[in-house]
Amino acid sequence: MKNNNINSLVRENILKLQPYISFRDHNEFNEPVFLDANESPFGEFNRYPDSTQKKLKNKLADLKNVSPSQIAIGNGSDELIDLIIKVFCEPKKDAILMMNPSFAMYAFYATINENKVLKLDLDENFDIVKDDFLNIIQQPLKVFFLCSPNNPTGNSTDDIEFYLQNFNGIVVVDEAYIEFSGKKSSLELLDQYPNLIVLQTFSKAWGVAGARVGIAYASEEIISLINTVKAPYNVNSLSQELILNTIEEENRLTNNVENILTERAWLEEQFENIGCISKVFPTDANFFLIKMEQVERVYEKMLKEEILTSRRDPAIPGCIRINIGNRQENEKLINLLKTT
Ligand SMILES: *Cc1c(COP(=O)(O)O)cnc(C)c1O
Repeated sequence: MKNNNINSLVRENILKLQPYISFRDHNEFNEPVFLDANESPFGEFNRYPDSTQKKLKNKLADLKNVSPSQIAIGNGSDELIDLIIKVFCEPKKDAILMMNPSFAMYAFYATINENKVLKLDLDENFDIVKDDFLNIIQQPLKVFFLCSPNNPTGNSTDDIEFYLQNFNGIVVVDEAYIEFSGKKSSLELLDQYPNLIVLQTFSKAWGVAGARVGIAYASEEIISLINTVKAPYNVNSLSQELILNTIEEENRLTNNVENILTERAWLEEQFENIGCISKVFPTDANFFLIKMEQVERVYEKMLKEEILTSRRDPAIPGCIRINIGNRQENEKLINLLKTT
């Protein structure tokens, strides 16, 4: 970014907005009597959750080697996508940029906020064409959602710094699948690029999608803006506790990732002998994008056997996105495809 002034990108009403501060969460007490929030005095989950998510942020700060003030926690990274758009994009005026194809939720939240969505078409290998990028950013844009590894294509983007340097706005690197990729996280670029936001999630490699917890890492300045617009109690106490326990569980993440990578290699081998498959795109994620000879027929046949996959045709012609399951699930898939 040529202009390092983040405030110049922020919506005026958000810059002026006073965050809702929960007094109890921002002060220390010894034996407090809580008569301040109209809760019930009875029961185990009678209290509102910690609005500052202090324990979880401290734990994540240790894990990722950043400061707790560089962390915002969302009810899924979905919520953070929504909040980022709300902080920077003036309704009916500003626009976002996303890759095409990519994760549909960027356009979804931008559209709800009445922002224009510009799509950067990827090449036949689903890579960004740098010249096309330089061309499209001639237009005024506030936020670029760079999904790497990308959903639904599975490939990663090289040279993230090129986009951080050239985009005159916020670059959100969505790393929902980074743990499966063996690639370096862009977290290490945070100190160099004030316009960078890194999104990660507990929904994929960590295996706790039900808890709905996603994380944004950025400069203290950006994080403070995200925290200003979030609902104070956006992450419930059960989820905060569950995530803390999940992180503390030894080898949870590495075991999950190892298992998926083993299954990924196994599936890739199996796919080679299946007639209805015409192309398996290379993947850095926990899913495959696969081109089928007769996509409609294959998809319907899987569905009939109650194997649910994500049909991408016609947006990506002939393609289905298929998740990597456990061995039993993967065998069921392969056996069916062999007879299709
Ligand atoms: C699954 C996914 C997410 C995660 O969303 P959560 O709300 O955290 O479950 C984020 N970005 C992409 C690209 C995804 O595919």
